[in-house]
Amino acid sequence: MTEHMTSNGEAVTRIPASEWHYAPDLPIGNNPLFEFPWRADRIMSYHRDYWLSLSEAVIFMALALGGWGLLRGPLGDMSVFAAGWIGIVYALNFAMVLLFAGGFHLFFYTLRRQGDDRKYVPQFGHRGGGRFTFGSQVHDNMFWSLASGVTVWTAYLVFLLWAHANAVIQTITFGANPWVFSAVAFCTGIWVAFHFYWGHRLLHVGPLYRHVHSLHHRNVNVGPWSGISMHPVEHVIYFSSMLIHLVVPSHPVLIMFHGYMLALSAIFGHTGFHEMLLGKSRRMMLGHFHHQLHHRYFECNYGSVDFPLDVWFGTFHDGTPAARRRLKERLGP
Ligand SMILES: [Zn+2]
Ligand SMILES: [Zn+2]
Repeated sequence: MTEHMTSNGEAVTRIPASEWHYAPDLPIGNNPLFEFPWRADRIMSYHRDYWLSLSEAVIFMALALGGWGLLRGPLGDMSVFAAGWIGIVYALNFAMVLLFAGGFHLFFYTLRRQGDDRKYVPQFGHRGGGRFTFGSQVHDNMFWSLASGVTVWTAYLVFLLWAHANAVIQTITFGANPWVFSAVAFCTGIWVAFHFYWGHRLLHVGPLYRHVHSLHHRNVNVGPWSGISMHPVEHVIYFSSMLIHLVVPSHPVLIMFHGYMLALSAIFGHTGFHEMLLGKSRRMMLGHFHHQLHHRYFECNYGSVDFPLDVWFGTFHDGTPAARRRLKERLGP
């Protein structure tokens, strides 16, 4: 293990090669908006990376704007449930999962275009696979993601678009309410992290873990298709985050963005790669090392770095050997 200093003078630890094939600088940090006293430089750089780079949030907002712009005409009247427009919404979500989970799998795992550069563990998926549906990790993950994940996600989206069309929810537009619109977009990731923590923590309780969440944890070594490979009950809990739009002023773009922050973000976060290298100096952040630690150590990191509930409730694992020792002490022999 070695220590070195970052450009802003903080000591970081490089983890021994035996534990991770690749790990980011440790300890991993949390959203500096929740660290007091506020440090303007940290808050600025965190949000610059979040909103002004080739980040998940920027990609998902572009997809939501593009998707709504292209489809609002073909979708037609959504005030009545009808197979036509529901089919289009389902097809769009199905295509998004196929594009990103399938695309990342093809790029990183089938073609191995990046080798094992920036990969957290050297192995590529699970061999054998007796515990997986169809006896294969990829086929298992594809089935649960597409058959259950896309269906439950689409059900929430269809319900909210119907509610929007019937003026059940308070609708805003960027033109008329730019600040509220931006605030809802800004808070989406924070809300997702808050909601995910509680739902996920509940799923780690005895029978719920055994009968429901263990399906997701079949994947110790995760891949892009593992992201939303969950039991249908977990999908119902996970995507219920979107129901916040029943009480928060919203717009279909914000609702679609929220859906991508759940479905597609999980796919990005489970690729097993920290970054996708795009040429010599450009890169796109992918992996959620915080959640990679959860897949290895289970009883830690139930939320994400966007809302530090794990820190507040003593379940945070920052990736360092000291955090691993603390986890061992907390769980006992
Ligand atoms: Zn996971
Ligand atoms: Zn879990």
